[in-house]
Amino acid sequence: MMNPHTPTLSSPHHLDFATSLTQWEYAPAPESVRPEIAERYGLFINGQFVEPQGSDRARSASEEPAYFPSINPATESTICEVAQGSAADVDAAVQAAREAFPAWAALPAKERGKYLYRIARRIQERARELAVLETIDGGKPIRESRDIDIPLAAAHFFYHAGWADKLRFAFPGSRAGETPAPLGVCGQIIPWNFPLLMAAWKLAPALACGNTCVLKPAETTPLTVLRLAEICQEVGLPKGVVNIVTGDGRTGEALVNHPDVNKIAFTGSTAVGKKIATTAAGTGKRLTLELGGKSPNIIFEDASLDQAVEGIIEGIYFNQGHVCCAGSRLFVQESVLDETIAKLKVRMASLRVGDPLDKNTDIGAINSRTQLNTIKHYIDEGRAEGAELHESTTSVLPDAGYWCRPSFFTGVQPSHTIAREEIFGPVLAVLSFRTPEEAITRANNTPYGLAAGVWTDKGSKIFEVASKLKAGIVWLNTFNKFDPTSPFGGFKESGFGREGGLHGLRGYVRC
Ligand code: NAD
Ligand code: MN
Repeated sequence: MMNPHTPTLSSPHHLDFATSLTQWEYAPAPESVRPEIAERYGLFINGQFVEPQGSDRARSASEEPAYFPSINPATESTICEVAQGSAADVDAAVQAAREAFPAWAALPAKERGKYLYRIARRIQERARELAVLETIDGGKPIRESRDIDIPLAAAHFFYHAGWADKLRFAFPGSRAGETPAPLGVCGQIIPWNFPLLMAAWKLAPALACGNTCVLKPAETTPLTVLRLAEICQEVGLPKGVVNIVTGDGRTGEALVNHPDVNKIAFTGSTAVGKKIATTAAGTGKRLTLELGGKSPNIIFEDASLDQAVEGIIEGIYFNQGHVCCAGSRLFVQESVLDETIAKLKVRMASLRVGDPLDKNTDIGAINSRTQLNTIKHYIDEGRAEGAELHESTTSVLPDAGYWCRPSFFTGVQPSHTIAREEIFGPVLAVLSFRTPEEAITRANNTPYGLAAGVWTDKGSKIFEVASKLKAGIVWLNTFNKFDPTSPFGGFKESGFGREGGLHGLRGYVRC
């Protein structure tokens, strides 16, 4: 039963509040820094930027163009061109990493650590430029790239710099005092939702453990990773230790197929992850996979609802919902369902969609037209299946660019497509439950197992529920909290292996 004194959206008090929120006028607060961007970028191989192979001779019409554009999703304009790395380019990068490996692995560990500290500090020094680039290239709000992506990327290098000369303490199972050996050349493939941060998650532990790397950023967001290549040059990182090969899925495939790669670390979709697992099987290559998710966010009736609503908002609208661990399935205890939905509507109406370079913006541009189409497809699907769409209409959307208003669906059945499949956009499916047992069963009823949120005032319930959720991460009375000391990774179709913390080091050593 709802408390009769609790204001809801239909009560006059709340309506006034909702209206006043949506009517607030903000003075625009555009970001003023405009980083220099070259017209085109080559590949970073053996410590140098090089043209992709074959770009010197005129490629015939049947051949691949050597460069492709990176688009600003908020304006649809081309920012610059980047190289489409071929199998020959990947081969050159792997060779450079192979040649660099023995010396890098043999370097005194504290010297390796010093390089990582330098990279971390340089990321901090160039933070503003990196944040603006991240926002221009990927569409995320400057507030997020500035306060989350870039500082966390630096934090990952700092954290792993500290591990470099302490690895012999990291694995008590290995022979006493012995530092575990690195794997060799690591091929690392990352997605577009947290470009620099994902590069840091991949490179920092690999380098700390003494491996060398070939990293492929996603095709829509290569720019900050290319700046990271510049930073590697600035700090004097020995050539070949980090190589960056831009390009699309075919470039990634060439890296996965390369016979001289010892380990593949992949973050991306479950579909591509499965393909990579098949290719790598039987080759002796080590493999870690960070894949998709459909994470539950569970609100019990005894939770502080206002806090929980903040957690719901953070869980699904952070980074336009382009978050593998997004709290995209909301489970609310039936007794507080109406109240939660009323509060959620009001809070959602206060979110501002628009220019990602404006510091007031909460929800930026969808990363690509393809992703926008995917999200729209799911919204249509949700309606067709009979769920009810609630969409915030507060913001006036810009004419150009890829935009999606924040929304949630009520009347969702566990069998609905929008409750089962990953949407990867600002669209939430709201479901309900009566008992803790039902919450656990419903939350676990998914092929994924990346993260979960539990909101309750009762410590005993936290333990009881959290220990039964099949998820790599369970957040308690919070959501989407990231820290380099804390391992991140999935169960089931969300992948295997951990990134961050002590557990993350395990993926980069022989032990
Ligand atoms: P994607 O799988 O299409 O692409 C990811 C990367 O793999 C890109 O760099 C792409 O170029 C490359 N790639 C594509 N096909 C390939 C192939 N056959 N062989 C090798 N590489 C290939 O995914 P996406 O659309 O870029 O990213 C969205 C997905 O990533 C979502 O499903 C999301 O859940 C997942 N994701 C997971 C995590 C995590 O840590 N678990 C983090 C971020 C994103
Ligand atoms: Mn782009």
